Amino acid sequence: MFNFNKEFETIFKIVAQNADKLGISAYFVGGMLRDQLMGIKIKDIDILIEGSAIDFVQNLASLSSSELNVDIKSVHDAFNTAKTVINGIEIDFASTREEDYPKSGCLPVVKNIGCPVECDLKRRDFTVNAIAARLLLDKNELKYELIDPFNGSEDIKPRTLRVLHEKSYIDDPTRILRGVDFKYRFNFNFGEADKFLIKEYLKSPDREGLSIDRVKLTLKKLFSNVNAKESYKYILENEIYKIWSDTPAFKADWAQRLYDSSKIFNTAKEDVFLKAIFECPDKAVNLQGVNSSNYEIYKLYKNFKNIDLASQYAVYNDCDAVFYYKKLKDIKPDITGDELIKQGFKQGKELGDELSRCLEIKLNSISRD
Ligand code: ATP
Ligand code: MG
Repeated sequence: MFNFNKEFETIFKIVAQNADKLGISAYFVGGMLRDQLMGIKIKDIDILIEGSAIDFVQNLASLSSSELNVDIKSVHDAFNTAKTVINGIEIDFASTREEDYPKSGCLPVVKNIGCPVECDLKRRDFTVNAIAARLLLDKNELKYELIDPFNGSEDIKPRTLRVLHEKSYIDDPTRILRGVDFKYRFNFNFGEADKFLIKEYLKSPDREGLSIDRVKLTLKKLFSNVNAKESYKYILENEIYKIWSDTPAFKADWAQRLYDSSKIFNTAKEDVFLKAIFECPDKAVNLQGVNSSNYEIYKLYKNFKNIDLASQYAVYNDCDAVFYYKKLKDIKPDITGDELIKQGFKQGKELGDELSRCLEIKLNSISRD
């Protein structure tokens, strides 16, 4: 059913064997399984243990041999998860669990760690992410038993996103953003019922318990993917910003410049997009059209971080910010303080003024092209 290279297969066989020995089950689940079913190269390897993931990896580590090198990098006791490197490959182990959302959009309360896999699948976002494949070893051959209570495998081919129950977007509206991510990464589309549920949710979102950190984290992941511009526009056009605000403080026509600015100012694309959405500068600080000198431009921007310059350019189409970054920011006066002292200038204001004057002359001699 799946196509793994030899190194992966060796590890998965050992995992299946160990699970069998311990009388528990180990599964592929979520994104990893979805990507396999879509025939896409897997990004990260997650294994779900129907029981205690920490006990499982500790047991695995005790079996270390010439064929198996298990390095437990970290464990998280509260959720019973473990990060490992096995034979040089990063593998995350999680325990099955259930989740409750006491308030719309809040961080979930975790319960029943080690619960049956079907209960774990119920907490997940879309049917295509709520499939598990149990790892089995049959005569030294890897076999898989698909656990697909929501028929997610039927939604894979038509690339349809369906949540598992009607309250799902109310419980966690960041699922809408995750859906947008899947739309532009893999060509998924919200199913008709989901489009309706999303519209209804956005009519009267309850923001009282909303975890804005979770919203930002989900957006950050979304914008780090290839289609940041399209996702940004989609969020605006479909009023998805209503998850966190009644009106958007960002505009569609910034999209291209936001995209360009991350390259121009050597800044992570996701940070530029996120800043535009949440921290748009109130008013333009640019001097464009004022016929300002290079020195004035330099003074205006010298304390700006790259991300602030990027934002200034994207939001206000401020070409001075680009000129500053590309041509002015690293300019130094032709003469140093020590040389000026040798020439008789006194330490303090006199020296500072002269250095500034030299810098001003140098900066103003730089041409825009
Ligand atoms: P990718 O990592 O390729 O972006 P993914 O589906 O693996 O996609 P992760 O954030 O790694 O995304 O999440 C792993 C799994 O955890 C998902 O497949 C899904 O089953 C579940 N999950 C993640 N976020 C949520 C959420 N907000 N609500 C419900 N389930 C979630
Ligand atoms: Mg993942």
